[in-house]
Amino acid sequence: MPVDADPDDLGGAGVADTEDALPINELFHSLQGEGRLAGVPSVFVRTSGCNLRCWFCDSYRTSWEPAHAWLDLTEVVAEIERHDADHVVLTGGEPLVHDESVPLLERLDAAGYHTTVETNGTIHRDAPIDLASVSPKLSSSTPSADLVADGTPRSDGKSVDSAAAERHEAERLDLNALARLVEDYDTQLKFVVTGPDDLPEIDRLVERVRDAASATVADADVLLMPEGTTREALDATRETVAELALDRGYRYTPRLHVDLWNDAPGT
Ligand code: SF4
Repeated sequence: MPVDADPDDLGGAGVADTEDALPINELFHSLQGEGRLAGVPSVFVRTSGCNLRCWFCDSYRTSWEPAHAWLDLTEVVAEIERHDADHVVLTGGEPLVHDESVPLLERLDAAGYHTTVETNGTIHRDAPIDLASVSPKLSSSTPSADLVADGTPRSDGKSVDSAAAERHEAERLDLNALARLVEDYDTQLKFVVTGPDDLPEIDRLVERVRDAASATVADADVLLMPEGTTREALDATRETVAELALDRGYRYTPRLHVDLWNDAPGT
């Protein structure tokens, strides 16, 4: 547990022993909402705990205020097998902060599942990953001191922790980890775009990854996704981001789970 070594720090419940166990925030069956496999029925395993603190985090209860139950890997696999899906998405939070994500991926690979790992790209692990969905965080992800976590005043009135904001800014990019992910796995680079001002930074970062990695990063492997965790928010960004993707030759990715279900829990 590299991020929060004490299970209590993750707000945990259930199994206290972390060996062979993962802190699970949600496990559910739905359609993949983003990226190349958008629309594919998948089982989502959402781990709790993240090394970053993006202000727009759409899985707030895995990062800013983590909540979860500890499940051992046998329980996780059994729960996955209850659903009729060939695809498993290991997401978070940041699933690769957890050592036990590797043996989970090995078990899923042995069972014949296609696995996608959704990661912020700051950590590389050797594991059987079929698709690395890497979402590097731009400077616009860093919370400013006066910004609250979900963009609206939180009910508890708690403001962003400035130490967390500084750590986020220091750790949000690791070019070596990004290059190794691109080299070792079939990869999509997925960027949350808040507006046109993000594009020069995305272009520069894509070029830096291309320079650092021995593998090719095609324009079609660079995905632009509109920022927004509600239909109303997406209405304001969707068309702009689609036009930016068209202009750059990058791929646009929808957020189907927001379009279809307004990002309700378990979707
Ligand atoms: S990296 Fe992902 S899970 Fe972590 S704070 Fe950012 S958006 Fe949330």
